[in-house]
Amino acid sequence: MSRHSKNNTALGFFTYAERQKLNYGTQKLRLGRESLRDFDACFLCLQKARSPVICPKGHLMCKECIYESILTQKKEIARQTKLYELQQDEIKNEKIKKDQMAKDILIKQFEKTQNSYLEVKPLKAHTDMKESEIKDIPASEREKKIALDIAEKQANKSNSNMNCFWIPDLTPENNPEQIKKVELHPQCYAGEKSHKINIKKLIPVNFSIAKESLTSTGRKEVIYNCPCCVRTFTNGTRLIVLKNCGHVFCYDCKKKFLLKSQKCMLCEKKNKEKDMIELEREGTGFSSTTRVAEAKRAGIAFQ
Ligand SMILES: [Zn+2]
Ligand SMILES: [Zn+2]
Ligand SMILES: [Zn+2]
Ligand SMILES: [Zn+2]
Repeated sequence: MSRHSKNNTALGFFTYAERQKLNYGTQKLRLGRESLRDFDACFLCLQKARSPVICPKGHLMCKECIYESILTQKKEIARQTKLYELQQDEIKNEKIKKDQMAKDILIKQFEKTQNSYLEVKPLKAHTDMKESEIKDIPASEREKKIALDIAEKQANKSNSNMNCFWIPDLTPENNPEQIKKVELHPQCYAGEKSHKINIKKLIPVNFSIAKESLTSTGRKEVIYNCPCCVRTFTNGTRLIVLKNCGHVFCYDCKKKFLLKSQKCMLCEKKNKEKDMIELEREGTGFSSTTRVAEAKRAGIAFQ
């Protein structure tokens, strides 16, 4: 078999083709244009955004999509909060129950010592605490603490004695998970890290349309450009959205004109430097224009 044979597996090392087939070890893949979101596509539905809006960090989405997302998140938050509150109530009730049990035990012990001359087993015989540990607790608290211990033991005992597979509360495996307090704010998940989002802070985007045409399949195709230098927008152009009017310019026009005038060149609305938001984009597939053009899967080949 020649060295350049396609399925040469007799070599002492792995060929590129073999490594690809094995699917382990660190693998890199250059993402093409098709794998990346268009600059004017909504990050939620991945279609060309309809009535586009951006969040204050420059993530573009359809108005409808983000409203729906926020509403769903709010519903989920409400549900989680309710569950959390219910659990907190349950924990509280359990504590009250245990305290009551401890009180009962104390009273019983007291009655026993009062009504009988027979020696009653001291309370501490019922607990696992060491002599020294008991001594550390102040005298006034001592009896109560020991009684609480016993109550807890009894509660556990009664539970373990009453294993039942038919009643959900008594199944041995029924160990409800603690619900953590949830993040109480809808999030925008477009970036690498999610951030808080608010309907009031969404900024409507007004692209300038350069050309509108119908494709052979009957789909409307819209091409956007910069109203200042008339450059057609692609994934490769850095875009700036003005916060106060939503007009979109290219980065070069921002540097040359917008920063100096601090005004929108279309509608003359005042926009300071902090009101110029760069639109987040995923790039063109060339690594020089984007940071996400490469998918990497790290792994150890041999162990
Ligand atoms: Zn959408
Ligand atoms: Zn965002
Ligand atoms: Zn421009
Ligand atoms: Zn404007």
